[in-house]
Amino acid sequence: MITMASSLEQLRQRLALFPGVGPKMAERLALYILRAPDHEVHQLLLAIEEARRQVIHCPVCFTLTEETPCRICADESRDPRVLCVVEQAAEVDAFEKTKAFRGRYHVLHGALSPLDGIGPQELKIAELLRRVHADQVKEVIICTNPTLAGETTATYLAEKLHPLGARVTRIGYGLPMGGDIEYADELTLTRALEGRREI
Ligand code: ZN
Repeated sequence: MITMASSLEQLRQRLALFPGVGPKMAERLALYILRAPDHEVHQLLLAIEEARRQVIHCPVCFTLTEETPCRICADESRDPRVLCVVEQAAEVDAFEKTKAFRGRYHVLHGALSPLDGIGPQELKIAELLRRVHADQVKEVIICTNPTLAGETTATYLAEKLHPLGARVTRIGYGLPMGGDIEYADELTLTRALEGRREI
């Protein structure tokens, strides 16, 4: 039996902690890192350190940014009274690529999932409600993923938003149930935005 060097095993275990990386992928990544030229690994380590130092949450919409507020919140030409609510910052990028949305965003940093211990307190929901009230938002488009957690979150938000007088809409889908907005193509997302319905 071949004994795995413990440092390699450590590296594999660390890589397997990354979301979506199973043991096989962790092994491939670990071997790639071992074989890569020194400068490449050095650049990777620098990029990790640099991103961790520079990237912050926008204090207004909670997307990831290196500026305060983020470029979208600072853009006066964008309508502050229409909000697109998403689970993760990557989905902001997906919607921005469509160029179909000229309002602003609010990133929840997850979706409600009581079984996993994710309740309203764990998400940027109080901040959203405060923002809707303070900015007199007229429409909140809920763009959480078409998953159980995403739908639970949409229903919960609609209940909390209706008393504030905002129109609450849910993005329409050309996406299969369980699909992921982050990976949807631009046309699908544009159509999903256009096909939003009142909830
Ligand atoms: Zn922002």
